[in-house]
Amino acid sequence: MESRTPAILAEIDARRDDLVALARDLIRIPTLNPPGRMYREICEMLAARLEHSGYACEMIRATGAPGDSDAYPRWNLVARRSGARPGDCVHFNGHHDVVEVGHGWTRDPFGAEVEGGRIYGRGACDMKGGIAAAVIAAEAFAAACPDHAGTIEISATADEESGGYGGVAWLAERGYFDPARVQHVIIPEPLHKDRICLGHRGVWWAEIETKGRIAHGSMPFLGDSAIRHMGAVLEEMERWLYPLLAGKRTGMQVIPEGARQSTLNVNSIHGGAAEPPEGDTGLPAPCVADRCRIVIDRRFLIEEDIAEVKREVTRMLETVKARRPGFAYEVRDLFEVQPSMTDRDAPVVRTTAAAIEAVLGAPPGYVVSPGTYDQKHIDRIGRLKNCIAYGPGILDLAHQPDEWIGIDDMMDSARVMALVLRELLC
Ligand SMILES: [Zn+2]
Repeated sequence: MESRTPAILAEIDARRDDLVALARDLIRIPTLNPPGRMYREICEMLAARLEHSGYACEMIRATGAPGDSDAYPRWNLVARRSGARPGDCVHFNGHHDVVEVGHGWTRDPFGAEVEGGRIYGRGACDMKGGIAAAVIAAEAFAAACPDHAGTIEISATADEESGGYGGVAWLAERGYFDPARVQHVIIPEPLHKDRICLGHRGVWWAEIETKGRIAHGSMPFLGDSAIRHMGAVLEEMERWLYPLLAGKRTGMQVIPEGARQSTLNVNSIHGGAAEPPEGDTGLPAPCVADRCRIVIDRRFLIEEDIAEVKREVTRMLETVKARRPGFAYEVRDLFEVQPSMTDRDAPVVRTTAAAIEAVLGAPPGYVVSPGTYDQKHIDRIGRLKNCIAYGPGILDLAHQPDEWIGIDDMMDSARVMALVLRELLC
């Protein structure tokens, strides 16, 4: 089927303006999350287009999922198009939500301005440019190979930026990523057109609370300061836990390199009286803090076991407890995700690698993401292992002001994705 390659590439070339227009249309819909705006509009826009290209489109609301409400319903689109003969199903999944705009923009964040071969806007690189490239790839492939086997699916899903529970997790729980239905998944997140992302590190978020006893601030000896107890926890963290984590290296090809070890961030700290509202001119009241809380964000490696990750924190707290009279603490789990890593020999990896080499003239790099993305749900809930992230865009631009996507990069990624379809479905 090599002979189809020139026809497929010609179909992609002919769709350059279409690709730019589609990416711009997607960027112009401000699907901000939170709170989850205009999810229905973006799904309907894509559904109208894909129906025109012969896809059966299903609009699915994740009713009752976290964040879902009548004001902000969590809409998802799954579009499916079967070929002339039975065969595998290749699924492209993109999240349609974008993060807040933030400060520092010099462009209209939802204007989709085109300049110097780039399209600017919130979500341009993460990941509306990737969705547009996948749609064009699928349409170009079907035009060049109308007699292809198998099935192509394209989904646009909600809430990846807030955990994916109203999106891919919801669909996975309902069998949409069952290996009997879908055999290959490509998530066109902005990992760059010459790299294949095999998976991500694990996550454990937890709240640690130290306890004290309230008293008048002029007589702190009559109380017990939860903040001082927390200070001791942070000291022990510096002394023992951080060096321990720095020594844990992984064989995962995590990018950037600094993330090739276990990491821990203290996301927040709070103790004592609540922060006064802005503009408040009153003075604080003198009290000994009876509670202090931190939220930790622990990222762990495929070589680590989450039970051991949690035991380390308990051990750190017990060390402090042994030294400090009156020390009491509590640890509450907030969120956890296991690491995910697709095998380098998996069919979708090998096929995408060959397509990248054919289009770009060099073999791909293999990377692992420092943070998680929707692959976790496809892997853990869907039990589908043959999944990667591959798409256009520069990861560092995601969530930044003046986010952009390169038009040539979208074109190259579309070529790669179309050749993957040729290999798997022709
Ligand atoms: Zn993303």
